[in-house]
Amino acid sequence: MKALVWHGLGDIRLDDVADPQIEQPTDAVINLTASAICGTDLHFIRGTFSGMQAGTILGHEGVGIIEELGDEVRNFEKGDRVVVCSTVSCGVCPPCRAGHTAQCDNANPNGPEAGTCFFGGPQATGPVNGLQAEKARIPYAANTLVKIPDGVSDDQAILISDIFPTAWFGAELADITRGDIVVVFGCGPVGQFAIASALLMGAARVIAVDKHQDRLAMARRQGAFVINFEREDPVAAIKKLTGGTGADCAIDAVGVDSMHAHHGPASAEAEQKAEKFEQEVKQVAPQTNVQDGNWVPGDAPTQALEWAISTLKKAGRLSIIGVYPPTAEVFPIGKAMNKNLTMKMGNCNHHTVIPHLLELTRAGVIDPVKVLTKIEPMSDVLNAYKAFDKREPGWIKTELKPHA
Ligand SMILES: [Zn+2]
Ligand SMILES: [Zn+2]
Repeated sequence: MKALVWHGLGDIRLDDVADPQIEQPTDAVINLTASAICGTDLHFIRGTFSGMQAGTILGHEGVGIIEELGDEVRNFEKGDRVVVCSTVSCGVCPPCRAGHTAQCDNANPNGPEAGTCFFGGPQATGPVNGLQAEKARIPYAANTLVKIPDGVSDDQAILISDIFPTAWFGAELADITRGDIVVVFGCGPVGQFAIASALLMGAARVIAVDKHQDRLAMARRQGAFVINFEREDPVAAIKKLTGGTGADCAIDAVGVDSMHAHHGPASAEAEQKAEKFEQEVKQVAPQTNVQDGNWVPGDAPTQALEWAISTLKKAGRLSIIGVYPPTAEVFPIGKAMNKNLTMKMGNCNHHTVIPHLLELTRAGVIDPVKVLTKIEPMSDVLNAYKAFDKREPGWIKTELKPHA
């Protein structure tokens, strides 16, 4: 079958690989009818999340039809239409039963202390071959797959494999209540769904910060108050938009590939911090492989966090769902401590969140497709990756057709 394979930093290829097989009685094999490219995938190619094993199939977002089932999978049958939870979970260990399925004790082959197991990630996360392929092996299928209700399309469901649940989880971590002013840093796909989730949870006002016009325009269409950090100092603008007190909560939907301002009033502070940001980039991305302007790491890994902390009100709440690798060790702890902030963070507990979002979609409360901007055949996957990596206008979220 065809699959997108990681060969090295800046080196991904559409290869012919062997079809996946059932390896454990708890496995399933699915035929993928939709896949997608995610910002998380870029970290592995840019080098801002290291430890990938050559030969690993990329991708952790998928929708498909069950083709083969292991003997111990009792809750599905062949032919079922399913969405794949990006994180693998067993469903019976203590963390899973408390709802923390991203912290499953059994899923990661490296052991219970190894952390989150997900598709298409570094060695320390499994590795489990990913979903940018025609077929995939799904470990712990009984819990890692969720049946798609009638009336929810593949285009809707693919957005519920990772990005919508991650955003919803981030909004839950922010403990949003009616009347809150919520700031969302980053208007990529997860940021867009964080805006939607905050509004569904009762936020009175959502402020969205980014520098790309197409992303800010989408945020504005959703009802967010937008700030372009290349034109305004986001901290000053948010102060003004919150009557001088700061935001109730902030969601970091950017992560380690954060960029600082290169223009406008916020660029002066970035220049002062240039050396510090450079050190941070070296720490998280000791090796890179930049080619023709592709696969460039973000130039200020802690910028979004710094802005988030500065824009929160006293005793405000910070939610972090942007990806940071285990090697990232810098955090503005002093500022956060001295403002009495509450911070929650983590990898999304997909299995816990996904059924509710499928139901919201089926009921017509939200149509996730509003964030989908491209549908591309797998044969064009390399070009799609490059355009998405460069943040070209219109490339906000790309679905892949695995058999096209
Ligand atoms: Zn993703
Ligand atoms: Zn578990």
